[in-house]
Amino acid sequence: MLFRTMACNFRIGHGYDVHALGEGRPLVIGGVHIPHERGCIAHSDGDVAVHALCDALLGAAALGDIGLHFPDTSEEFRGADSLGLLRRVVAMLAEHGYDVVNVDVTIVMQRPRLRPYIDNMRTAIASAAGMSVDAVSVKATTEEHLGFTGREEGVAAHAVALIATI
Ligand code: MG
Repeated sequence: MLFRTMACNFRIGHGYDVHALGEGRPLVIGGVHIPHERGCIAHSDGDVAVHALCDALLGAAALGDIGLHFPDTSEEFRGADSLGLLRRVVAMLAEHGYDVVNVDVTIVMQRPRLRPYIDNMRTAIASAAGMSVDAVSVKATTEEHLGFTGREEGVAAHAVALIATI
């Protein structure tokens, strides 16, 4: 019975997002501004990592997805700071009785190398989500010049999140 109770207290979610890269856009990933000649084309600030994370958290709680709660047709979310959206998602989960246990994000981008920005991304995400930094993992990889990320046409991000009833 204990196992069953514990098993019911934890829920896992997955998120995935892609944005095309375009000229004249700032590049914001994981809440961090990254100097680059192109940025993500989007209605909001185009933070692909935070969008994937929001979808993972909403998915864990079965509360829909980021497009449902923050539609890209709404003027309210034009140029939106995605960390603000993350803050709202975590608050939404708390209203439904969920706390975030840990999250793990993988960013897929050919260039620039993201390693120098990873720790700042973890701090920014942890701060927005009200989590401890050691519960926030951010990783980056390339796809070895293959596909749309490899051709530098876009950026992808995957995220998983574990949440628990408070
Ligand atoms: Mg997005």
